Amino acid sequence: MKRLGAGAAPGTRVPPATRNPNPNPNNRRRRPSWRGVGHLAPARSHEVEVDVVLVGSGIISLFIAHDILEKTDLSVAVVERADGLCAGATGAGQGYLWQLHRDPMNADAWSMALQGRARWRELAAADASFTVDQCGSLLLATTPEEGVELEARVAAVNDALPIEDRATFLPDRESVVKEEPSLSDSVADIFAGAMLPSDGQIDGQATTRAMFRKCERSPRFQSYFGSTVEHLIVHGGAAKGVVCADPTDRANGSKTILADAVCVCAGAWSSTLLSSWLDGDDGDRWRDAIVPRRGHLLKLEVGQRRGRQRLLNHGIMESSYSKHYISLRDNHCVVNHDAYDVTFTATESDIDGALLIGSSRELGDFDQTVNSRAVDDIMRAARRYLPSLLDGSEVLLETRVGLRPFSATGPIVGPVEAVSGLFVAAGHEGSGLTLAPSTADRIVSSLLR
Ligand SMILES: Cc1cc2nc3c(=O)[nH]c(=O)nc-3n(C[C@H](O)[C@H](O)[C@H](O)COP(=O)(O)OP(=O)(O)OC[C@H]3O[C@@H](n4cnc5c(N)ncnc54)[C@H](O)[C@@H]3O)c2cc1C
Repeated sequence: MKRLGAGAAPGTRVPPATRNPNPNPNNRRRRPSWRGVGHLAPARSHEVEVDVVLVGSGIISLFIAHDILEKTDLSVAVVERADGLCAGATGAGQGYLWQLHRDPMNADAWSMALQGRARWRELAAADASFTVDQCGSLLLATTPEEGVELEARVAAVNDALPIEDRATFLPDRESVVKEEPSLSDSVADIFAGAMLPSDGQIDGQATTRAMFRKCERSPRFQSYFGSTVEHLIVHGGAAKGVVCADPTDRANGSKTILADAVCVCAGAWSSTLLSSWLDGDDGDRWRDAIVPRRGHLLKLEVGQRRGRQRLLNHGIMESSYSKHYISLRDNHCVVNHDAYDVTFTATESDIDGALLIGSSRELGDFDQTVNSRAVDDIMRAARRYLPSLLDGSEVLLETRVGLRPFSATGPIVGPVEAVSGLFVAAGHEGSGLTLAPSTADRIVSSLLR
């Protein structure tokens, strides 16, 4: 374990004593319990104290912050190395809140998504700054075999959903086009479809901003942007805060945030942090536990609305997208590890009417630059499905790139055993927007335990 304050392990970069004369967590005021009111007053200009510190400001971190503020009287600080919101995968997310492409056999992910879908709807019903576009989901089978699989999927999904919440199998191209007229000119093979009216979507970026603004209204919330969390402070086997590089603090160059709980919500970067903080087997366990899976999403302005209210009636996705989700077959975890893939997806933003098309997947390094091959492949696929919308007059407004935090075992949410008070909430791959509410629920329960 690398310790700060109580004596750093060899090789650990510790802020010089003159810059940080009092990092020893022993010197903190003791609090009677977790539920005690937080102490927000900075002990020094570069040292602050809260109950919980969250590393990262993606949707997972912000939903946890939101729930801590709503459900407890703890104070919370969000620390983000970028200068603003949506710097990670969250900024690229398409926004599907879907059940239809999930496997009910993977009971945990299924119920987390179901809970997430419901919670986003509740939030939107209670607060006008959040919206869920309840436009339903449409999956497309592009081969006869996929059509057979889709029919079986509809039966399985209906078995797992409440009786009033039904998916429908669309047995041929005609029935698909009737549901989704934007596909009428499609030159892609469409053999069948499936739809679930209760599925919906959010605008990931707008929702993240709304979530942040809501957190900011609480006096128990603090945020630090442009601050990179580097060290975990550990004392007596317990997490006691973090040290961040903070170039905006000219006098100190770093900031110490003391806290009785630290939750790593750093998306694809989470296991790099944890493996550097933990020694021996504990650290090794985290190496590559969560890896970046780069994804591209294109935002387009489409002039051709053809007199319809909406460009798309539903969110659309090729049914082969399901292969990216972990599913259970004969009690074995099955996950697709293709190095490169583009699967057609399309949604319409209910905020500005733009068309969002995607998406690519590339397992690799932490490269967040645009891969022109992925952009071309996404455009090519979308033109085949939606030729009347993408007739050449469309305008590319934005190319979004995000690193999905991929974990071969699904999201990793809860305490990190090696250090008490240390938690992780990461590894949500292509489902973090959907799973953020249930993730927050689990972390808050763990904090209060
Ligand atoms: C193209 C694409 C489409 C997607 N579509 C959907 C969808 O339709 N539905 C859905 O549910 N999900 C979707 N996702 C997945 C979803 O976006 C992610 O699962 C989710 O955003 C992950 O959120 P996060 O908070 O864990 O990570 P991130 O959003 O990546 O946030 C992590 C943050 O941690 C910060 N950070 C890292 N290291 C440090 C450090 N040392 N100190 C301080 N800060 C640090 C990063 O800068 C980053 O801002 C999509 C993703 C992509 C890429």
